[in-house]
Amino acid sequence: MKIVSIPCRRENYGGLRAGTVEYLVVHYTAVPNDTAENEGAYFAREQVGASAHYFVDEKTIVSSVPEEYAAWHCGAASYRHDRCRNSNSIGVEICTKGTHGDYRFHPQALERARQLLRKLMERYQIPAERVLRHYDVTGKLCPAPFVGQGQAAWEEFKEGLTVYQTLEQLPAWARPTAEKLVQQGILQGTGEGLDLTQDMIRILVMLDRAAVFGKEQTNGNETQQRGSD
Ligand SMILES: [Zn+2]
Repeated sequence: MKIVSIPCRRENYGGLRAGTVEYLVVHYTAVPNDTAENEGAYFAREQVGASAHYFVDEKTIVSSVPEEYAAWHCGAASYRHDRCRNSNSIGVEICTKGTHGDYRFHPQALERARQLLRKLMERYQIPAERVLRHYDVTGKLCPAPFVGQGQAAWEEFKEGLTVYQTLEQLPAWARPTAEKLVQQGILQGTGEGLDLTQDMIRILVMLDRAAVFGKEQTNGNETQQRGSD
């Protein structure tokens, strides 16, 4: 994963963290058709009293504020969340498509943001429950495509963050395929863990249905259908 460094202007962020990173907070830039590099350059140049650690678009991840410093991305006069603050969180801004009132995210920007978040989750041992929207922290309408009518899109985005390490953690629809692949030695069943993302298991299940891993069906319904032929 390539990350471009465009250091944020020093006046736009706070001091070194006293503690560790406990939360990851997702934002949207609300600037239609902006790019991560343009955002990075803006926060490097202007004194705006706000900042984020990362900006992500469909092509690029830009590092702005160093992770060990508190960025000013989710501060407020009052909070909805009892614990998440600038001092213990990393802010990730996703660049925005669409127009005011109809903001959207490019699917590739979301995928890139997921890659970055998964890496940060691993680095700081942060479970998916502690990946929040700015909205969850302060009630601000941010990221707009993930709030209100976007609730389902947020939940789907978060599903894509989970990395499954054991067969038991996998969703029921994926387990028979994974069990088969462990038995065949294609997937590692012990030791390091499975290290499977939602996207990976979706592809493995599709390949299994196409009988790539042998004819034996692992889907109960399909077995029944075959039986009635
Ligand atoms: Zn925000």
